[in-house]
Amino acid sequence: MVRVGLQISATLENIERIETCHPNYSFFVKVKCTNCGETSEKWHDITESERLQGASDSRNPDGFNFYMKCKMCSRENSIDIVEKTNEPYTQDDAGKFKAIVVFDCRGVEPVEFSPRAGWIVHSAENGQKFEDVDLSEDDWVEYDQKNKNSVGVYEFASQFVKLKK
Ligand code: ZN
Repeated sequence: MVRVGLQISATLENIERIETCHPNYSFFVKVKCTNCGETSEKWHDITESERLQGASDSRNPDGFNFYMKCKMCSRENSIDIVEKTNEPYTQDDAGKFKAIVVFDCRGVEPVEFSPRAGWIVHSAENGQKFEDVDLSEDDWVEYDQKNKNSVGVYEFASQFVKLKK
């Protein structure tokens, strides 16, 4: 079992913090089978509030946040979001990579992340709160009616980092 952290980096304009709408946020990832090295071509979604049953796994009757049988080697792989690892990305973190969630990976690891929709943006100085923000374009700009200035998320980037046990 390997723990992998998803780190993000962005530049924030007049924003105090951004966060995912966990546990209902869907992390869209491409995954790689650690047994045969096969990397998925399509995006898979991993959502903390949703659990899938494994085909023949009696060790975990509650299921997993993500489950798949590898097309190449037929191994059964799964991923769970580690509870309480969701972290906001704040003004203090801006421009640096910071982990916003940790995945427990069994036989498969995420290798690419697509941020998509479901982000919550809190403007600086008690400004407007924006919900269900879509970061698909890697840049996002809006106008804060409360503070009367523009707010933005720029240069969004992400990476996966293996964590030591
Ligand atoms: Zn495989």
